[in-house]
Amino acid sequence: MAKRYPLERYRNIGIIAHIDAGKTTVSERILFYTGISHKIGEVHEGAATMDWMEQERERGITITSAATTCFWTPARLLYGADDATKAKVRETHEHRINIIDTPGHVDFTAEVERSLRVLDGGVTVFDGVAGVEPQSETVWRQADKYKVPRICFINKLDRMGASFDKSFDSIIERLTPHAVAVQLPIGLEEHFSGVVDVLEKKAYLFSGEHGEIITEAEVPADMVADVEKHRATLVEKIVEKNEALMERYLAGEEVSVDDLRATLRTATIANELIPVFCGSALRNKGTQLMLDGVIDYLPSPLDITDSKPIKGTDPKTGAEIIRTPSDEEPLTALAFKIATDPFVGNLAYFRIYSGVMKKGTYVMNSTKGSQERVGRIVRIHANHREDVEEMSTGDLGAIVGLKATTTGDTLCDPENPIILEKITFPEPVINLKIEPKTKVDQEKLGMALRRLADEDPTFRVTGDSDTGETIIWGMGELHLEILVDRMKREFGVEATIGRPRVSYKETIMGSADAEGKYIRQSGGRGQYGHAKIKIKPLERGKGFSFVNQIKGGVIPQEFINPIEKGIKEALDRGIVAGYPMVDVEVTLYDGSYHEVDSSEAAFKIAGSLALQEAAKAAKPVLLEPIMKMQVTVPQEFFGDVTGDVNSKRGRIEGMNDRGALKVVDAKVPLSEMFGYATKLRSITQGRGSFTMEFDHYEEVPKNVEAQIVEGRK
Ligand code: GDP
Repeated sequence: MAKRYPLERYRNIGIIAHIDAGKTTVSERILFYTGISHKIGEVHEGAATMDWMEQERERGITITSAATTCFWTPARLLYGADDATKAKVRETHEHRINIIDTPGHVDFTAEVERSLRVLDGGVTVFDGVAGVEPQSETVWRQADKYKVPRICFINKLDRMGASFDKSFDSIIERLTPHAVAVQLPIGLEEHFSGVVDVLEKKAYLFSGEHGEIITEAEVPADMVADVEKHRATLVEKIVEKNEALMERYLAGEEVSVDDLRATLRTATIANELIPVFCGSALRNKGTQLMLDGVIDYLPSPLDITDSKPIKGTDPKTGAEIIRTPSDEEPLTALAFKIATDPFVGNLAYFRIYSGVMKKGTYVMNSTKGSQERVGRIVRIHANHREDVEEMSTGDLGAIVGLKATTTGDTLCDPENPIILEKITFPEPVINLKIEPKTKVDQEKLGMALRRLADEDPTFRVTGDSDTGETIIWGMGELHLEILVDRMKREFGVEATIGRPRVSYKETIMGSADAEGKYIRQSGGRGQYGHAKIKIKPLERGKGFSFVNQIKGGVIPQEFINPIEKGIKEALDRGIVAGYPMVDVEVTLYDGSYHEVDSSEAAFKIAGSLALQEAAKAAKPVLLEPIMKMQVTVPQEFFGDVTGDVNSKRGRIEGMNDRGALKVVDAKVPLSEMFGYATKLRSITQGRGSFTMEFDHYEEVPKNVEAQIVEGRK
């Protein structure tokens, strides 16, 4: 039976960083150190442990797993203690840390959102040479959106040109004025050898083959003044957050490190302060003390219920339900990722917000309204999977072999149903055609697409019934590129891949009234369907709504659904250029029927005809996805870049200076953005960078619409 940890000794965290800042290296080091620290009495196991890391790396490692469990006792509490004492300290201070994988690329908005949803705190990693980069800003803002309490880790201080000060300043300038340095590096680049804990005014030096030995030392003489200066700022910022401390501080009293730490913890959890740590994950320096910071400053599941209450609705009544994080409460869990594992098959990763999940029981998937049997529960560790009998509040794990559950579903106690707030995923805006090479590929493709779509809710697959083609849909060029690559590599599908195309939509700008009649009298039994409808535009994003105003049996009840079906099919086929028509309200208000000749089929056709007539008269237009884009370029390329954006029908919405760089915010139609990465590289000699995400759908200008309609013919 796995050891139970009190909830205050849980940390559910994500390592948040854009690609290349060192997220993988930091995660690996965390798993390495937590692996060795967990084995009581062994300080450094050295080569053996390192070996599995290398092997796992070869095999594509579990760090890519959606949630990995590890254990940590603050290194600070273990310095210099003998083994017996260490064992005792661990009894009372060992924490369970669940590391939730967060993607480094902002193209995968859905991935980012769902992972941010289930974690309680984050470690943001920065490159100590580059400091805050445009992509760091994007991931930072996303974490802001979900109010994720954070600590920062300035990594790579061993690199040539690394600067803690500059990186720290860039955090303050570009991300938040609330960042506070709790550590300072001792030496930089190849001389980087340890850190000073600013609150304690103590130095820590790292040694041993993997930096696992930490030695406490005096602050180096040449740093004393700097440390005092930083400490004064830090203490001031902390005491500001706590009136009682403030009074003692103003009265000239020395506030203890423990009190300061406690207040810094509260302020970090409240998102009012952000402690900054530093190190070099690659050179095995600083990761362990940063982990101490995770324990010291990031919230446990108990801490965050004020800012993020566990809120849901009763699926029957729609009434709001609030749960408290406790094993005594009914089970409330969120399936946040579905993954396919080569060894065990389908894994549904979940987080338990309240209650206990037991193996062999049934849970309710309240989102889908179905029951699921929990056949097997596994906890994922760095180098193995552990089968467990049950999991409790705060835990993250995976259920093997669920059938109907997809990402974002709520799993709960069948006796106490609740639906947690849904994770909303944006609509896919781009698609491409896939043609498998052989019959065998066709089969493999089917399976690959099903699996990939289960894992990723923003990835969709449709078949074009007219042509028998398979079409896949995603969030951006890169998104589809990666999915196609996985399809080929992981599933061995050979296929011809079409060029990515924009997912246009259609809508109406006006209202109209129309009639659909499908009447055939040809001897024997005829056909009779007749419907009158009104249509009007709905707000963008509202989809389709159907209002039935038929009274007195003018059309019998059994023909109403077929009419709606016919209308929906006609909407899906579009009017302008064959794209699905959205954001329309249709009111069925009149019609007639025939005792003998009326049938469901006839009314379906009547509904479809009515819609086509009405839509034609209601100023139908084409809609295109508009992307929000941010481009960062050196000053000298500014004119070329903005000129290019303007020529792409883009709207520039903001221009800012960031040091020597210019930052341009713009809205641009997706159709103009294919291959922009290459274009920007060539305009800026490789020195520009950009991020892009879907913003909204907008009417296509008439001249462009004409071209698109022409192209579809
Ligand atoms: P990720 O893309 O954020 O997961 O970043 P990785 O962990 O893969 O690191 C990107 C690159 O930076 C790799 O080549 C790493 O070896 C390197 N790297 C990571 N941490 C450090 C560090 O502390 N110092 C140095 N010099 N390089 C590092």
